Amino acid sequence: MAIERILRHLAVGSLCFALFSVGMEAKTKVTSQPFGKTPDGTSVELFTLSDGAYEARIATYGGVLVSFKAPDRNGKAADVILGFDDLDGFVANFNGKSVAYFGALIGRYANRIGHGTFILDGKKYSLPLNNGENSLHGGPHGFNNVVWNAKAIDNGVEFTYLSKDGEAGYPGNLTATVRYTLVKGDLRIEYSATTDKNTVVNLTNHAYFNLAGQGDILDHQLTLHASRFTPVDAGLIPTGELKSVDGTPFDFRKPTAIGVRINADDQQLHLGHGYDHNWVLDRKGTELEEAAELYDPGSGRVLKVLTDQPGIQFYSGNFLDGSIIGKRGMPYKLHAGLCLETQHFPDSPNHPDFPSAELKAGQRYHIITVFSFSAR
Ligand code: BGC
Repeated sequence: MAIERILRHLAVGSLCFALFSVGMEAKTKVTSQPFGKTPDGTSVELFTLSDGAYEARIATYGGVLVSFKAPDRNGKAADVILGFDDLDGFVANFNGKSVAYFGALIGRYANRIGHGTFILDGKKYSLPLNNGENSLHGGPHGFNNVVWNAKAIDNGVEFTYLSKDGEAGYPGNLTATVRYTLVKGDLRIEYSATTDKNTVVNLTNHAYFNLAGQGDILDHQLTLHASRFTPVDAGLIPTGELKSVDGTPFDFRKPTAIGVRINADDQQLHLGHGYDHNWVLDRKGTELEEAAELYDPGSGRVLKVLTDQPGIQFYSGNFLDGSIIGKRGMPYKLHAGLCLETQHFPDSPNHPDFPSAELKAGQRYHIITVFSFSAR
């Protein structure tokens, strides 16, 4: 009898333990705190997502990924994102002369629209220019420069922003929602949007990565799953050609240190002042697929980029010249960080042959990019 009772106790005990373990299943801690005010007095919050080993901090201003802490192969954490220590740093840069878009959400249209014009349903739209004679990253008042509404969700934060009809020159009331979640080193960014008039939309995140947490990114090894890229003209607008990377410094189909060919005598590299181009991803379908891998041999940190988008802009921080003083007083010198911006191709509204970036009234735009961190 006694043995039977003991056995029954043990069974109940292990069931409780199993349930307790399930209850303990990795749950990301999500907290928020005030991050200051924009010049017009709007309060900005800073959300912290922590899954134990990894930590992301994201601001309601511009949906900016302010920092991302990731362990190296020995477990030592470093912040692998460029930016500023406080809100004022971001506000000053995003409203200054050389906007770097550090960590920000980009909209309505990531990258350039040539001459700031496009025709949709027979009507010509003119956008404010902010990059020579072109419109870049949604123009002077893009999604990086607004305060988003935010609420905590499971493992992350959800941002929403209503961009009114005609805002920044674009048609339609566009309601954009961006969900950042962090689970086991995977920072997942889910973008969705709806509109009440036909429009164009191309959302991305403009984080600058440096997996060493310091110095430059020239030793980082990059893999891009792309056999073609979109060459550009002097204004960095695609010529329309989808050019093979074969035999060019644009072939990253095998892991290659960025610095090896960045100064090669190549017309496209000259035009970009380094790498500042859109690669045409070799896609199998329309689901989430690996687009890129970045590896820092020094620290062992790895970043894999997964996306369902047709293109990726690899920008090697060519316009950083030491004049921006970033986190911890660090001057951001040439190639201090690099961006891997998943996207529709630049200037798609003016290239009917490119995958369409049009969003029709009543349709739902819904795309996903995952920045997956690890170490080896
Ligand atoms: C563009 C660069 C630009 C940078 C910062 C990148 O996405 O391709 O040309 O300088 O953003 O604005």
